[in-house]
Amino acid sequence: MNLNPLQNDRAAGVLVALAAGDALGAGYEFGAPLPDGTEVSMKGGGPFGFAPAEWTDDTSMAIPIAEALLEQPSDGGASSPAALTMIVRSWAAWAAEAKDVGAQTSSLIAAARRLASAGGPEVTAADFTAAAADFHTRTGRSAGNGSLMRTAPLALAYLRRDPAELLAAAGTLSALTHADPDAQEACGLWCLAVRHAVLTGQLDVRAGLPLLSSERAALWLKRIEAAERSRPRDFVRNGWVVEAFQGAWSAIHYAGRTASGPAHLRASLEEAVRGGRDTDTVAAIAGGLLGAAYGYTAVPFEWRQRLHGWPGLRARDLMMLGMELGRGEGSRSTSWPRAERHDYSMWGRTDALVRHPHDEGVWLGGVGSLQRVAELGIDAVVSLCRLGTLDVPGVAPEDHATFWVVDSPVEGDNAHVAFVLREAAAAVERYRAEGKTVLLHCVLAESRTPTVAALYGARVARISLLEALEDVRRALPNARPNPLFMQVLIDAETTSGPAAGGATGAGAH
Ligand SMILES: [Mg+2]
Repeated sequence: MNLNPLQNDRAAGVLVALAAGDALGAGYEFGAPLPDGTEVSMKGGGPFGFAPAEWTDDTSMAIPIAEALLEQPSDGGASSPAALTMIVRSWAAWAAEAKDVGAQTSSLIAAARRLASAGGPEVTAADFTAAAADFHTRTGRSAGNGSLMRTAPLALAYLRRDPAELLAAAGTLSALTHADPDAQEACGLWCLAVRHAVLTGQLDVRAGLPLLSSERAALWLKRIEAAERSRPRDFVRNGWVVEAFQGAWSAIHYAGRTASGPAHLRASLEEAVRGGRDTDTVAAIAGGLLGAAYGYTAVPFEWRQRLHGWPGLRARDLMMLGMELGRGEGSRSTSWPRAERHDYSMWGRTDALVRHPHDEGVWLGGVGSLQRVAELGIDAVVSLCRLGTLDVPGVAPEDHATFWVVDSPVEGDNAHVAFVLREAAAAVERYRAEGKTVLLHCVLAESRTPTVAALYGARVARISLLEALEDVRRALPNARPNPLFMQVLIDAETTSGPAAGGATGAGAH
């Protein structure tokens, strides 16, 4: 089974949205709930002093899972000893330099290390499992939220496998640090919901209930129903896996009453953070599932732009990991998006390059104009086509915005097409507000580039979108947005009025 383009987008969204929720909550960790409407941002800080847009332990512990599953794609799946040992060794390396290792995870790693030094040269998954089982037996309390927060990428390795296998693997992965049945089942149910969301686009946290015993399924159904009558702030003990699960689902359920699509993703994560206390973890849990349902394309560029963290990765790296894991090819491939170069030599002339008719600080071009970035003093690039990792030289990662948009008139070839086009226009506006000279490009500058250029031009020139498009067409004579993009422009015009087509708000004038 190959994933279709929308499923690919959703697989790519899992780790990116998990990390976005995590970084959004990082600056509010252990704080009291915030009133409705309070603005939340990736401000950083918090008790551990994170940088703005830096993710925390939640994402840092999820990444080794994704990487190990790519490196060790054996038939044994995620629960193969080799994959699990690779995961725990990465965690141990992370914990050695991290400032925010959770209490249960921290004591587990120390205990596993003691077991390892007795039995062999390096720590193994068996050492972790034994230490976690011992911890649970001694304390009877090993149901912190630390295994649920990291579990989402596991689901991507099980898109083609039996859901029962995923439930079992999620339990095994949880039991490396969190042996409590509540923790194991929470991970299983969340992973099954992530799998269901990537495959269908539907948010259904009940998807895995039929795989539990009837008694446990009834208990979890009660917990889910309670979440749906509540809001994240009602779950005061969200360091406990059950209330973290409920907090995350209540954020998604509550925000879904008034928002849909990409707006639902954003509103849910903001709601999760406003719930207070373990904000980054509840938002990270919610983010993994929301990314699976709405995709990479639904994560606001504002959140993706500076997202970063251990081990030195950024949003694009998380997008690649999720996509490759979802493809199930078993290893890092040499094709897009991992390839260094993307070949457009068959496309004919790609060297179109003109100034935006409404803003001299914006260039509009084909993909060939990337060669001229240094010569023209361009500081920021907004790309609307696939590129290799080395195709944009000399621009800082946060100054390169990429958007997934296929030049197709077919509804369904693109996810959230109107949102993505408006986000691209907003990215141009954002870079211009930072005083940067911008190149906006696709392959030929015939359809995608003029559409986004019109959305941007209408805002800066305070004219209608169709007037803006006419001006762009005079500058780029081959410009002819496809019918779907034309419809996006027309819809934006009729719903927002002139000059309000951008994603950043209404243009009062
Ligand atoms: Mg955290």
